[in-house]
Amino acid sequence: MAPFLTDWRGRFTGRALAVLRPADPQQVAQLVQACAAHRVPLVPQGGKTGLVLGSVPDASGNAVVLSLARLNRVRALDALNRTITVDAGCILQTIQEAAALEGCLFPLSLAAEGSCSIGGNLSTNAGGTAVLRYGNTRELCLGLEVVTAQGEIWNGLRGLRKDNTGYDLRDLFIGAEGTLGVITGAVLRLFPQPKASITALVAIGAPRQALDLLTLAQERCGASLTGFELMSDFCLRLVGTHFPSLAQPFVTRHPQYVLLELSSSESEQHAVGLLEQTIADAIAQDIADDAVVATSVGQSLALWQLREHIPLAQAAAGKNIKHDIALPVSRIADFIDSTDVQVLAAYPGCQLVCFGHVGDGNLHYNVAPPPGTAHEDFLANQDAINRIVHDSVAAHAGSISAEHGIGALKRDELKRYRSEVELNMMRAIKAALDPLGIMNPGKIL
Ligand code: FAD
Repeated sequence: MAPFLTDWRGRFTGRALAVLRPADPQQVAQLVQACAAHRVPLVPQGGKTGLVLGSVPDASGNAVVLSLARLNRVRALDALNRTITVDAGCILQTIQEAAALEGCLFPLSLAAEGSCSIGGNLSTNAGGTAVLRYGNTRELCLGLEVVTAQGEIWNGLRGLRKDNTGYDLRDLFIGAEGTLGVITGAVLRLFPQPKASITALVAIGAPRQALDLLTLAQERCGASLTGFELMSDFCLRLVGTHFPSLAQPFVTRHPQYVLLELSSSESEQHAVGLLEQTIADAIAQDIADDAVVATSVGQSLALWQLREHIPLAQAAAGKNIKHDIALPVSRIADFIDSTDVQVLAAYPGCQLVCFGHVGDGNLHYNVAPPPGTAHEDFLANQDAINRIVHDSVAAHAGSISAEHGIGALKRDELKRYRSEVELNMMRAIKAALDPLGIMNPGKIL
């Protein structure tokens, strides 16, 4: 059972009675019925790439892990309706590839796409790098099939863009982190493949300029702007240290960088023209200092690899204290400025690894120990550092979880930052759908 018990970051190993590996929704239903009859808690598990200890059991050893990995069929693709129907255990990359074979785009994209499952993506309402244009996983889902906590199969696999028939049950299960039922299948939205996607890495002086660049790019490029990622020079240095084979395009270093992606439904020429003009205007207006524009698919991938290797470089460097936070876009620069000052005053010399999907107001604000301090020892400061960062998030009208969810890791933080009114509504939903409390107990609430 070992591979199913330790989380992706290797921070926690739980215990379980067994790992169940059903092959289809009917088997999932039978297993949930058996668990309900014997009051055995279930921990649904997809690709186990979640970062908040949601998909591993706790230390009690009284639960079973329910792996959805064998539910891995692409069930149907309707090119005219632009939908694909899949099993919940399908790997995200498999769905992207199945869509591409039919000339369609499934736009959900994240660094874990080679191993995360769509059931996990739906259950965490994953974000990723294309939210700016296409939305979170919630916006990409039209219908669900769910095994309820009673072991019944709810077939809500409707491929409809409009469906106002009462409460939206689908949206309850999306983002529920396996606490309300088990997702076994989904109908997902597809889009036309863009004719061209062009990427640039733009060097800037400070996060505030990233916001000016975002405004400019949105004004000039509208819906063609599909990606807008901020990363500090420290992040790129970290990638350089742990992945020296990845080429870094700038000879001189700059304080911050924005990775910008434009997609065009017209032509590559159109996308390149729009991007180059936007960057030229940004440099003329002193928003940007320098830029490189990828001139081939290979170069574009190389730029994205720099961004996607930041979490991997961090993992290679050692354990650190992570925050996945959302802020109103307009307040991101103020948040970074004031939080940096507070964290550095309390922990002089610590290393701030700040990057994220800034176009969506989502930052990964991670804190690593000062050089020379053991990473394990530094984790003892986690609660105190969380307090500084999350209080600052609250002061800037943000959220303590943008895209990773709550899991077991942020459960106590949720209590601190959400009102009793809000928590009570969540508890009421949980009690109504899972009265025995067997669905992923101890997660979220
Ligand atoms: P798991 O980790 O297996 O499960 C996650 C949660 O969903 C758990 O609570 C689990 O119980 C529940 N669950 C899983 N499957 C089901 C199901 N079928 N029914 C009911 N509940 C279920 N996340 C982002 O949003 N954006 C990013 O850009 C991003 N980048 C990442 C980069 C790296 C390198 C890594 C390691 C992770 C990243 N993540 C990101 C986090 C993670 O990949 C996502 O949360 C992903 O959606 C989890 O999918 P999974 O299949 O691995 O789910």
